[in-house]
Amino acid sequence: MRVLALACGWLTGDAGLFLAGEAGRMRLPVPSWLIEHPRGRVLFDSGMHPELQRDPRARLGPVADVFEFSYGPGEDVASRLRALEIDPASIRLLVTSHLHFDHVGGNASLPNARVVVQRREWEAGRDPDLVRRNYYDPRDYDLGHDLLLLDGEHDLFGDGSVVCVPTYGHTPGHQSLRLRTGSGELVLTADACYLRRTLERLQLPGTVFDREAMLASLQRLRALESAGARLLFGHDAEQWQSLPRAPEPVA
Ligand SMILES: [Zn+2]
Repeated sequence: MRVLALACGWLTGDAGLFLAGEAGRMRLPVPSWLIEHPRGRVLFDSGMHPELQRDPRARLGPVADVFEFSYGPGEDVASRLRALEIDPASIRLLVTSHLHFDHVGGNASLPNARVVVQRREWEAGRDPDLVRRNYYDPRDYDLGHDLLLLDGEHDLFGDGSVVCVPTYGHTPGHQSLRLRTGSGELVLTADACYLRRTLERLQLPGTVFDREAMLASLQRLRALESAGARLLFGHDAEQWQSLPRAPEPVA
Protein backbone atom coordinates (compact mmCIF):
# COMPACT_ATOMS: atom_id res chain seq x y z
CA MET A 1 0.00 0.00 0.00
CA ARG A 2 1.26 3.49 -0.86
CA VAL A 3 0.21 6.90 0.42
CA LEU A 4 0.60 10.00 -1.76
CA ALA A 5 0.25 13.65 -0.79
CA LEU A 6 -1.62 15.79 -3.32
CA ALA A 7 -0.96 19.53 -2.98
CA CYS A 8 -4.27 21.34 -3.48
CA GLY A 9 -3.48 24.98 -2.75
CA TRP A 10 -2.95 27.22 0.27
CA LEU A 11 -5.05 29.37 2.57
CA THR A 12 -3.79 32.35 4.55
CA GLY A 13 -5.70 33.79 7.47
CA ASP A 14 -5.35 35.32 10.94
CA ALA A 15 -3.28 32.97 13.08
CA GLY A 16 -5.87 33.25 15.85
CA LEU A 17 -8.32 31.34 13.67
CA PHE A 18 -6.05 28.31 13.80
CA LEU A 19 -4.43 28.75 17.21
CA ALA A 20 -6.61 30.68 19.66
CA GLY A 21 -4.83 33.74 21.05
CA GLU A 22 -2.07 33.74 18.42
CA ALA A 23 -1.18 37.04 16.66
CA GLY A 24 -0.21 37.59 13.03
CA ARG A 25 -1.06 35.63 9.92
CA MET A 26 -0.61 32.00 9.10
CA ARG A 27 -0.37 30.15 5.78
CA LEU A 28 -1.86 26.69 5.62
CA PRO A 29 -1.47 23.97 3.00
CA VAL A 30 -4.62 22.23 1.75
CA PRO A 31 -3.80 18.56 1.19
CA SER A 32 -5.67 15.67 -0.29
CA TRP A 33 -4.34 12.15 0.27
CA LEU A 34 -4.34 9.25 -2.16
CA ILE A 35 -4.06 5.74 -0.76
CA GLU A 36 -3.26 2.98 -3.20
CA HIS A 37 -4.51 -0.23 -1.64
CA PRO A 38 -4.26 -3.56 -3.49
CA ARG A 39 -8.07 -3.64 -3.60
CA GLY A 40 -8.50 -0.13 -4.93
CA ARG A 41 -7.74 3.54 -4.54
CA VAL A 42 -9.00 5.61 -1.64
CA LEU A 43 -8.98 9.37 -1.51
CA PHE A 44 -9.02 11.10 1.86
CA ASP A 45 -10.58 14.57 1.46
CA SER A 46 -10.93 16.41 -1.82
CA GLY A 47 -9.62 19.94 -1.17
CA MET A 48 -11.28 23.13 -2.43
CA HIS A 49 -13.75 23.69 -5.24
CA PRO A 50 -12.02 24.65 -8.52
CA GLU A 51 -14.13 27.82 -8.72
CA LEU A 52 -12.00 29.20 -5.87
CA GLN A 53 -9.11 29.36 -8.35
CA ARG A 54 -10.96 32.16 -10.14
CA ASP A 55 -13.41 33.89 -7.82
CA PRO A 56 -13.54 32.74 -4.17
CA ARG A 57 -16.14 35.32 -3.22
CA ALA A 58 -18.60 34.14 -5.85
CA ARG A 59 -18.68 30.73 -4.23
CA LEU A 60 -17.90 31.29 -0.55
CA GLY A 61 -19.55 34.66 0.07
CA PRO A 62 -18.29 36.43 3.24
CA VAL A 63 -16.15 33.40 4.24
CA ALA A 64 -13.90 34.35 1.29
CA ASP A 65 -12.98 37.60 3.06
CA VAL A 66 -11.51 35.66 5.98
CA PHE A 67 -8.83 34.02 3.81
CA GLU A 68 -6.40 34.76 1.03
CA PHE A 69 -6.22 31.96 -1.49
CA SER A 70 -3.19 30.66 -3.28
CA TYR A 71 -4.85 28.14 -5.52
CA GLY A 72 -4.23 27.95 -9.23
CA PRO A 73 -5.25 25.90 -12.25
CA GLY A 74 -3.92 22.37 -12.01
CA GLU A 75 -4.03 22.33 -8.20
CA ASP A 76 -7.57 20.99 -7.72
CA VAL A 77 -7.81 17.33 -6.83
CA ALA A 78 -9.12 16.22 -10.25
CA SER A 79 -6.16 17.85 -11.99
CA ARG A 80 -3.76 16.31 -9.48
CA LEU A 81 -5.23 12.87 -10.20
CA ARG A 82 -5.07 13.38 -13.96
CA ALA A 83 -1.40 14.37 -13.62
CA LEU A 84 -0.91 10.89 -12.12
CA GLU A 85 -2.84 9.42 -15.08
CA ILE A 86 -5.77 8.55 -12.84
CA ASP A 87 -9.25 9.33 -14.14
CA PRO A 88 -11.14 11.11 -11.31
CA ALA A 89 -14.25 9.17 -12.38
CA SER A 90 -12.42 5.95 -11.51
CA ILE A 91 -12.17 6.84 -7.80
CA ARG A 92 -14.65 4.60 -5.96
CA LEU A 93 -13.92 5.44 -2.33
CA LEU A 94 -13.72 8.94 -0.89
CA VAL A 95 -13.25 9.16 2.85
CA THR A 96 -14.39 12.53 4.13
CA SER A 97 -12.92 13.88 7.39
CA HIS A 98 -15.60 16.57 7.66
CA LEU A 99 -17.72 18.88 5.55
CA HIS A 100 -15.73 22.14 5.52
CA PHE A 101 -15.12 23.74 2.12
CA ASP A 102 -11.40 22.89 2.06
CA HIS A 103 -12.14 19.17 2.51
CA VAL A 104 -15.14 18.48 0.26
CA GLY A 105 -14.74 21.10 -2.49
CA GLY A 106 -13.55 18.49 -4.98
CA ASN A 107 -16.37 16.01 -4.35
CA ALA A 108 -18.22 17.20 -7.45
CA SER A 109 -15.29 16.11 -9.60
CA LEU A 110 -15.43 12.53 -8.20
CA PRO A 111 -18.85 11.48 -9.47
CA ASN A 112 -18.50 7.73 -8.96
CA ALA A 113 -17.03 7.78 -5.48
CA ARG A 114 -18.79 6.30 -2.51
CA VAL A 115 -18.46 8.89 0.25
CA VAL A 116 -17.43 7.42 3.59
CA VAL A 117 -18.37 9.80 6.38
CA GLN A 118 -19.48 9.64 9.99
CA ARG A 119 -23.25 9.63 10.23
CA ARG A 120 -23.27 12.46 12.76
CA GLU A 121 -21.21 14.64 10.41
CA TRP A 122 -23.52 13.90 7.50
CA GLU A 123 -26.59 14.61 9.58
CA ALA A 124 -25.07 17.89 10.76
CA GLY A 125 -24.59 18.74 7.09
CA ARG A 126 -28.33 18.31 6.52
CA ASP A 127 -29.43 20.36 9.53
CA PRO A 128 -29.90 24.02 8.53
CA ASP A 129 -28.93 25.26 12.00
CA LEU A 130 -25.72 23.20 12.11
CA VAL A 131 -24.94 24.08 8.48
CA ARG A 132 -24.92 27.75 9.49
CA ARG A 133 -23.06 27.20 12.72
CA ASN A 134 -20.33 25.11 11.08
CA TYR A 135 -20.02 27.18 7.86
CA TYR A 136 -20.93 24.20 5.68
CA ASP A 137 -22.02 24.59 2.08
CA PRO A 138 -24.27 21.71 0.95
CA ARG A 139 -23.39 22.49 -2.68
CA ASP A 140 -19.98 20.95 -1.87
CA TYR A 141 -21.26 17.59 -0.65
CA ASP A 142 -25.01 17.15 -1.12
CA LEU A 143 -24.58 15.85 -4.66
CA GLY A 144 -26.23 12.45 -4.64
CA HIS A 145 -23.11 10.37 -4.09
CA ASP A 146 -23.51 6.85 -2.83
CA LEU A 147 -22.89 7.04 0.94
CA LEU A 148 -21.39 4.84 3.58
CA LEU A 149 -22.43 6.37 6.89
CA LEU A 150 -20.34 5.29 9.86
CA ASP A 151 -21.06 5.15 13.56
CA GLY A 152 -17.55 5.24 14.99
CA GLU A 153 -14.49 3.25 13.96
CA HIS A 154 -14.56 1.40 10.63
CA ASP A 155 -12.03 -0.88 8.94
CA LEU A 156 -12.48 -0.07 5.25
CA PHE A 157 -11.06 -3.26 3.70
CA GLY A 158 -11.38 -5.57 6.71
CA ASP A 159 -7.60 -6.05 6.85
CA GLY A 160 -6.69 -3.32 9.35
CA SER A 161 -4.79 -1.28 6.75
CA VAL A 162 -7.23 1.64 6.32
CA VAL A 163 -9.29 2.48 9.39
CA CYS A 164 -11.59 5.44 9.93
CA VAL A 165 -11.14 6.76 13.46
CA PRO A 166 -13.70 9.12 14.98
CA THR A 167 -12.08 12.35 16.18
CA TYR A 168 -15.12 14.48 16.96
CA GLY A 169 -14.96 18.05 18.19
CA HIS A 170 -13.66 20.26 15.38
CA THR A 171 -17.05 19.51 13.84
CA PRO A 172 -19.84 17.22 15.13
CA GLY A 173 -18.62 14.07 13.36
CA HIS A 174 -15.01 14.67 12.31
CA GLN A 175 -12.91 11.57 11.57
CA SER A 176 -9.24 10.83 10.95
CA LEU A 177 -7.71 7.97 8.97
CA ARG A 178 -5.29 5.40 10.39
CA LEU A 179 -3.10 3.61 7.81
CA ARG A 180 -0.92 0.58 8.25
CA THR A 181 1.81 0.74 5.62
CA GLY A 182 4.95 -1.28 4.97
CA SER A 183 6.95 1.50 6.64
CA GLY A 184 4.78 1.71 9.77
CA GLU A 185 1.56 3.24 10.95
CA LEU A 186 0.39 6.65 9.76
CA VAL A 187 -2.51 8.77 10.96
CA LEU A 188 -3.96 11.43 8.69
CA THR A 189 -5.42 13.64 11.40
CA ALA A 190 -7.16 16.20 9.14
CA ASP A 191 -8.60 19.05 11.23
CA ALA A 192 -8.78 17.12 14.48
CA CYS A 193 -5.26 18.56 14.68
CA TYR A 194 -4.26 21.44 12.40
CA LEU A 195 -0.61 21.61 13.48
CA ARG A 196 2.00 19.92 15.63
CA ARG A 197 1.63 22.88 17.99
CA THR A 198 -2.06 22.02 18.41
CA LEU A 199 -1.05 18.60 19.68
CA GLU A 200 1.86 19.73 21.84
CA ARG A 201 0.16 22.66 23.58
CA LEU A 202 -3.45 21.52 23.24
CA GLN A 203 -3.94 24.95 21.68
CA LEU A 204 -7.31 24.76 19.96
CA PRO A 205 -8.47 26.79 16.94
CA GLY A 206 -10.40 30.02 17.49
CA THR A 207 -13.68 28.30 16.63
CA VAL A 208 -14.45 24.77 17.71
CA PHE A 209 -17.77 22.95 17.65
CA ASP A 210 -17.19 21.02 20.91
CA ARG A 211 -14.06 21.83 22.95
CA GLU A 212 -14.26 18.86 25.30
CA ALA A 213 -14.69 16.40 22.44
CA MET A 214 -11.82 18.00 20.53
CA LEU A 215 -9.50 17.77 23.55
CA ALA A 216 -10.44 14.11 23.97
CA SER A 217 -9.64 13.54 20.26
CA LEU A 218 -6.24 15.21 20.69
CA GLN A 219 -5.51 12.92 23.61
CA ARG A 220 -6.42 9.98 21.41
CA LEU A 221 -4.02 11.21 18.71
CA ARG A 222 -1.29 11.66 21.35
CA ALA A 223 -1.83 8.08 22.44
CA LEU A 224 -1.57 6.83 18.84
CA GLU A 225 1.67 8.77 18.43
CA SER A 226 3.05 7.41 21.70
CA ALA A 227 2.26 3.92 20.44
CA GLY A 228 4.49 4.56 17.40
CA ALA A 229 2.19 6.05 14.75
CA ARG A 230 3.42 8.92 12.61
CA LEU A 231 0.86 11.74 12.55
CA LEU A 232 0.35 13.81 9.41
CA PHE A 233 -1.45 16.97 10.45
CA GLY A 234 -4.34 18.71 8.71
CA HIS A 235 -2.71 22.03 7.83
CA ASP A 236 0.86 22.12 9.14
CA ALA A 237 3.00 24.13 6.69
CA GLU A 238 6.30 23.11 8.29
CA GLN A 239 5.50 19.41 8.20
CA TRP A 240 3.96 19.69 4.74
CA GLN A 241 7.14 21.26 3.31
CA SER A 242 9.11 18.28 4.59
CA LEU A 243 6.92 15.68 2.86
CA PRO A 244 7.47 14.28 -0.63
CA ARG A 245 4.67 15.14 -3.09
CA ALA A 246 3.00 12.81 -5.52
CA PRO A 247 4.15 10.94 -7.53
CA GLU A 248 6.70 10.27 -4.75
CA PRO A 249 4.95 8.39 -1.94
CA VAL A 250 4.92 9.63 1.66
CA ALA A 251 4.86 6.00 2.74
ZN1 LIG B 1 -9.40 22.34 6.98
